[in-house]
Amino acid sequence: MIKSFFPPSRTLMGPGPSDVSPRVLAAMARNTIGHLDPAFVSMMDEVKEMLQTIFKTSNALTMPISAPGSAGMECCFVNLIEPGDTVIVCQNGVFGTRMAENVTRLGGKLVLVKDDWGSPVSVDKVEQALKDNPDTKLLAFVHAETSTGARSDAKTLCALATSAHVLSIVDAVTSLGGIEVDVDGWGIDAIYSGTQKCLSCTPGISPVSFSDRAVEKIKNRTVPVSSWFLDTNLVMGYWGAGAKRAYHHTAPVNALYALHESLVMVLEEGLDNAWARHELNHEALAAGVEAMGLAFVVEKNSRLPQLNSITIPEGVDEAKVRGLLLENYSLEIGAGLGALAGKVWRVGLMGESSSRRNVLYFLSSLENTFSELNVDVAYGVAVKSALAIYES
Ligand SMILES: *Cc1c(COP(=O)(O)O)cnc(C)c1O
Repeated sequence: MIKSFFPPSRTLMGPGPSDVSPRVLAAMARNTIGHLDPAFVSMMDEVKEMLQTIFKTSNALTMPISAPGSAGMECCFVNLIEPGDTVIVCQNGVFGTRMAENVTRLGGKLVLVKDDWGSPVSVDKVEQALKDNPDTKLLAFVHAETSTGARSDAKTLCALATSAHVLSIVDAVTSLGGIEVDVDGWGIDAIYSGTQKCLSCTPGISPVSFSDRAVEKIKNRTVPVSSWFLDTNLVMGYWGAGAKRAYHHTAPVNALYALHESLVMVLEEGLDNAWARHELNHEALAAGVEAMGLAFVVEKNSRLPQLNSITIPEGVDEAKVRGLLLENYSLEIGAGLGALAGKVWRVGLMGESSSRRNVLYFLSSLENTFSELNVDVAYGVAVKSALAIYES
């Protein structure tokens, strides 16, 4: 007979999900109520208000999509693209590639701006692409490329879009909560995130937000949105301000309790403090890793603090190391993806996982594992170097 499932207890230092606080897990276990219950509706209003604060926006169309980050991505593209629209997509990793796929599937005219995996999106190339394609309707890029650990200059890219009268779509799945995101200040028109990265909630929900300019484009569409589920006009009948909360789909009630709790926690800490914590733990991790003799893939000034892509020492079986970390230390780190598969480990320091304890635990576990496999790195210096950062 199949018995109840009890997951092992892990330390999650991969590309997501990140460690989830017991407070968030406890919120999720509270009793389920109806998704049209007045008590649930007022909790939803608070979720929306907290999302506006965290996105730094007054956009009325701000809500959590009842599906993972990939659905948030689709929601932005499916609502904003009409067949024939020229869309510039910046591709410097896995998620930009997925954006491009969305554009072509929706009948958009794709203009790809490519950069190397590990590099940020080139502002100059985007500027040129906007000049070369004066009929461009949308510019889409990934703020924090989780597949490589590169951070792009969202503020400058959005300013370019605005001055060219082009709407921007920003992937903030890994950036939100970990580094600065300023929807209104940067003039972002459509943005989506995910719960399981720096918000440290359980996976499966995608916060999105659309500017008034984006809403205008959606309202003026000549063809209906091709997805029924993700059509914002319909979803807003449930989530919108003053909406009658008409049935659209059954909201994932308990998952939204979890999101509510995780947003409360982010705001208790304060966004500035959260960003500073991510930065500090990254610096300590980097000091430790570099003292061992390992290198980062991304250049220093465009590294994401929450996602560290680290090169694998010559001759090391990277999957074996990850396996041993999981087996002996119950510690999960990520493998490389796409062009970086087999070349890097991706070490996440996202949300709850971004802690001094985790940094020191990772460095010592990795060092012990290297020692077990007789890997030629510098021993006895990683934890010391990290501690020096904390003490400075
Ligand atoms: C994780 C991630 C996604 C996809 O989110 P899912 O919740 O896995 O669907 C999209 N973009 C980026 C940058 C991500 O890191």
